[in-house]
This record gives sequence, C-alpha cells and structure tokens, in this order.
Amino acid sequence: MAMERLDSETETTPTAIPHWYDGDDDIPTIVDGEDVTVYDSEGTAYLDFQSQLYCVNAGHSNQQIIDAIADQLARIPYVSSGKHNDTRNELRARLLEVAPESMAQTLFSISGSEANETAVMLAREYADASKVLTRWHSYHGATYGMASLTGDTDTRAYIEPHATTTGNAKFLPPIPEAFDAETPEELAEKAANHLEFVIRNEGPDTIAALLTEVVAGSSGAYTAPPGYFERVREICDEYDILLIADEVITGFGRTGEWFGAQSEGIQPDLMTFAKGLTSSYVPLAGVMMNDDLAEYVAAEGFDVGQTFAGHPVGCAAALAAMDVYEDGLLENTREVAPRLESRLTDLEERFDVVSSVHGRGLHWGVAFADPEADEPFVDPRVSDEDDNPVETVLSTAGENGALFGMGRPNTQIIVSPPLCVTEAEIDEAVDALEDAIESTF
Ligand code: PMP
Repeated sequence: MAMERLDSETETTPTAIPHWYDGDDDIPTIVDGEDVTVYDSEGTAYLDFQSQLYCVNAGHSNQQIIDAIADQLARIPYVSSGKHNDTRNELRARLLEVAPESMAQTLFSISGSEANETAVMLAREYADASKVLTRWHSYHGATYGMASLTGDTDTRAYIEPHATTTGNAKFLPPIPEAFDAETPEELAEKAANHLEFVIRNEGPDTIAALLTEVVAGSSGAYTAPPGYFERVREICDEYDILLIADEVITGFGRTGEWFGAQSEGIQPDLMTFAKGLTSSYVPLAGVMMNDDLAEYVAAEGFDVGQTFAGHPVGCAAALAAMDVYEDGLLENTREVAPRLESRLTDLEERFDVVSSVHGRGLHWGVAFADPEADEPFVDPRVSDEDDNPVETVLSTAGENGALFGMGRPNTQIIVSPPLCVTEAEIDEAVDALEDAIESTF
C-alpha cells in the first residue's frame, strides 16, 4: 500500500503523523514541557499520560539530565564506538549494578529497533540457527527485520507485501482471548503448552531465539499469568533457545523495578532497552547479554557497530536519568501505581464498553469492546478508522486536558505517565478519560 502525500485538501488525518506532515489538523504543536505537563503553541496545558511514546520516564525538562548533556557536549561531544570513552565505560558499569542477575555485558545501540536487530543478529550467530519466535500482539520496531518479527498487523502491513524477510514463527500470547481457560493458572499452562507445540513443529534446532516483551507495550500492556514465564524459561532451556526480553518500554522503572524482567521474575539471556534509558532526551539504546554470550563475543568478536551507537551525549543523559530514577522515581512509581490501577479498574466496573484493564506499575491498557457483539469495535484491517469510537475517546480526553496513547490494534487506550506523576495528576487525567468515555458512548 503506497502512502499518499497529505495536503490541505485531504480530509482525514492519519493517526500516526508522518514526519514530514506539519499541520492543518487539530493535533497540538507541543512547544514546552515540565514534569508531567506539556504546553502547546496556544499555551494550552496537557497532562502527558503517554510520556510521549512511553519514554519520557523522568518527566519533561529535568534540569539534572539537561545539565549532564550540556557538560558532556562541552567536554567532548563524540567518541567513536571503536575507542574507549569514560562516560560510556561508567554507564556500562552502572547498568550491571541494576540489571537482572543473568546479565553480564552490554553492547550499545541507537534505537529500540536497532537494539533488537543487534540482539537477534547475535543470537543467530551464536546459536547457528535462523528462526526467531515472537508473539502475535507484539511490537519490536520499524526496521525491516523488526517489523516482520512484530505481531501487530498494522506494522507488518508495511513490510509483508514487499519482503518475506527473516525466518520467524509467531505464537499466541498468554491472553484470555487466545485460550479457553477458567483460571490464570490454566491460561499459563495452556499458553506454555501451545508455545512448546510451536517449537516442536518448527524444529527446535532451527530456532535461535524467542523474543518477547515481558509486559506488552503498545499492543495492550497485558501481563502474563503467574507461572507462565517460569515455564517459558524452562522450555527455552530444554530446547536450547535463547530468551530475549524486549525491555524497550518496560526498562528503567516503568513497571516499578529497574526492568520488567525483575517485576515479572525472569532471567533473560539477552535484554534490549532504549526509550527510558535517557528518558528519551537524546537517542540511546543497548543490548545486555549473559555470561556465555559475553564470552562468545569476547572470543569471536562481533564487529557490527554503528556510528552513533553508545554516543557519549546519550551515555551522559543515561547516567543522569538513572540517578533521577534511583533518587526517588522508582519509589514514586511503586507508591502511586496502586492509585492508577484502582482508578482504571473502576472504569471497567462503571462502563460496559470497557472490556478489560491490565498492566503493571505505570503502564496500563484500557480495552474497549462492543458489549452487544462482545468483540472489539474495530478490526483495523477491515474497518474505517474514522468509525472507531475509541479514537473519539482519545481525542475528547485530549480536549479535556489529558493525552493518552492509542494501542495497536486501535481498540485500546494506553495509559503511561512519566514516573514523577502525582496521585492528584492521576485523578485529574483519569477524570478527563472518564468524561471522554461518558460523552462518547
Ligand atoms: N520494542 C518495543 C517494545 C517498543 O515499544 C518499541 C517502540 N515503541 C520498539 C521496540 C522500537 O523502538 P524504537 O522506536 O526506538 O526503534
């Protein structure tokens, strides 16, 4: 599907605005921000309950991070990844202090997509196998490789008509819609058995890795039922498959721990992260790996660096952001998260169009479904997005002063504020959402 250029006569505005598109719609132009609040060019304030793209974890305009960036720029802005750099070395050591126990070494990258590419490239090289397993209902990035590994249909629509790409197989996520299960335990068991079935049918020797978000990000913030990831770890061990945790959204405090792997009790073999690492003030991403992989890289080399990978300015921002998380924001996340959970759960009780609410820490999904049909309002592959009432809820909440994210698929709203959010701001933003649901349905 070729993308059409928009002009002022175009009647509809795409939900995701192409980078070159600059106007003629009612989407605010953000010019300023502080903590949880952003301001548009008219001076209107909005509570940013999307943290832009689930990434400004320290809040907007944090002076400590800005100063660290300025200091690094004044000292030496760039040192290539083939040389040592003090800031980069310091960050490498700091990451080891907070990462899950299984992690032993870091390769830096630039974006979440590229960190995942690097992890998959390394896994394939190490395992000498090509296939990678990913979940339906997942998002791993917008490069050719990652868009094809991604489970959501919108993203894959850009890739699949043009390229068959990399060997991969998808499996069902452990969500109630996918399995007929009475209890969370039964759901965990059935979903893990299904995964094992997929592995045995694909041929375990052909599979290098299983790549998964530990709490789903843009595809709905769903968490796995208790016991599921324990089984996934056992299955990966049994069939010699590397477990890669995509922590691009869940990393750096979003779930209430440094990493989602810690809140979900997982020891991955590889772990990728980006976004919250620098609170997104500048781009930086990374891949951490276990001892075996670190030894393999040390012995065999892995010479596929990128010019901007591990950029010192990003590393300086990351060190400062980590200080900010450690000095209060991790604790704040744990303190205010129950308030967000209870306010959102109330929505499920109050509105029959809210079909489920799920998440962890400060990352939540509010799913909508037609109560008559008992199914989501819109299947984005067959319906006109303009008919989607969830889009109306989102834009009305914006008019009410609170910005939220649209999930993929677009039948759910993602709630993911900066980690410095207060309970009063949670109340204000959820009130705005509640009013929007009430006026839409
Ligand atoms: N993985 C996950 C879970 C993500 O949510 C994203 C981005 N939203 C990516 C990977 C890709 O990251 P980036 O956009 O920085 O390439």
